[in-house]
Amino acid sequence: MVNISKSLYCNYVQCKKMVWLLKNKMEEYVETKNEQVLDNGNKVGDLARRYFGNYSLVKYDEVLINMIMDTKKLLKDGKEIICEASFKFNNLFASIDVLKIEDDGVSIYEVKSSSEIKDIYKDDASFQAYILKKLGYKIKSVNIMHVNSNYVLGKEFDIKEFFTVEDITDISILKENEIEEYVKEMNEVLDSNKEPNIDIDKQCFSPYPCPFFKYCTKHLPEKNVFDINGKFIRLNDKLKLYHEGNYSYETLINSVTNEKALDQIDFVLNNKKPKINVEKIKEFMSKLKYPLYFLDYETCQFVIPEIEGTRPYQQLTFQYSLHILDKEDGELIHKEFLADVNDKDFIRHFAESLIKDIPGDGSVIIYNKSFEPTRNKEIARMYPEFKEDLEKINSNMIDFMIPFYEHWYYTKEMEGSYSIKYVLPALYRDDPSLDYHNLDLIHNGGEASSSFIDMIDKSEEEVLKIRKALLKYCELDTYAMVKIYEKLKEIE
Ligand code: SF4
Repeated sequence: MVNISKSLYCNYVQCKKMVWLLKNKMEEYVETKNEQVLDNGNKVGDLARRYFGNYSLVKYDEVLINMIMDTKKLLKDGKEIICEASFKFNNLFASIDVLKIEDDGVSIYEVKSSSEIKDIYKDDASFQAYILKKLGYKIKSVNIMHVNSNYVLGKEFDIKEFFTVEDITDISILKENEIEEYVKEMNEVLDSNKEPNIDIDKQCFSPYPCPFFKYCTKHLPEKNVFDINGKFIRLNDKLKLYHEGNYSYETLINSVTNEKALDQIDFVLNNKKPKINVEKIKEFMSKLKYPLYFLDYETCQFVIPEIEGTRPYQQLTFQYSLHILDKEDGELIHKEFLADVNDKDFIRHFAESLIKDIPGDGSVIIYNKSFEPTRNKEIARMYPEFKEDLEKINSNMIDFMIPFYEHWYYTKEMEGSYSIKYVLPALYRDDPSLDYHNLDLIHNGGEASSSFIDMIDKSEEEVLKIRKALLKYCELDTYAMVKIYEKLKEIE
């Protein structure tokens, strides 16, 4: 009999076919988990142990029985707080993040690094309570501990304020029959040689993107309804179209009404030439005021805030690149800022440098209007002395994404995307100097963010290498905007 862990149980709650595939077709598995999310989970998990004061820890062991025996010993020794306390009932196994033992029963604490509770967390914690109950423990409470997103780091870190604890004991009791039933079904599914017949639906995307999506959609044509930008056709509508058998571009072209989705389909299907709305683009470009400041930020997030005045997961600006063009045929100047990861005041230094580098009243060109202005507002809240200057920068911002988002300029290579990573190669085909793939180490914002944080533990030599790669990456982002500007200027 296969052991059923809490994560396998949660997989089953999401989709019974997923569990069967995990046992029988692992070669089809495509990783969907983000390393940063896993890393945050570990950090928060470690921190949560300190919430309870003195604790005992059951060390991870591939041989589960060793963990179970260690737990038994700690219980016998009268330990009151046991982290990773491990139990088995029949083939059901669970390690409990934190188990609190009191005279009137035991309390289960399931720790999550997210800032809100998902339904699946309740299934996870309830499964653990079910095992303990079956083993004869009296359950005093079942809780989910998660990050309080409103917490703001003061002079000292306050662990009690950082976590929010939600009691879900009543829900866990209500779930008992469901768990009983699911476990019985799960054993049948896992024992069977027959792949469950489950079709694509909401469960493939939520609560987590399924790692077998590619396998389960192998009957679909290469380009299909799930490739259409989700902003143009929402997931529920995509699923409806799919279930109606309307999923190929050939059939969708006759039924989709959203104009941008239609462009995405039509341009690929009919190999269309680029479309350019000259009038709209000229009007857009006429709003630019010199000097032009092409600006891009890189940010990182600490789940456990390290800078006074910041919240968990706040986007912290650690780098910018700035290309400046003082007049139409002027010389292009490049300026940049990259913080020292060990500087506890790097946001202040970022703002000081930015304000110095953008003294004028020209247009500040960004790509994705909500990102940079929101960061500036957050910095202004932290450091009111910069408010006026940052507000001025915000008021001069012009979003270069608009012509592409609005499809005033659209090519089939953009594949429904208006991200600069798609737009740039579509405008400048086969230009290696503009190809993000040719960069060293860092090729996207996610990698920039994790590389910056990684520098905390790196040698001097490695730090130098990462800093060089970060500077190159961010510089390309603003240089890309300059190239887009040049392309849009050519349009008559
Ligand atoms: S892709 Fe969907 S149907 Fe296939 S295993 Fe995953 S959740 Fe189940």
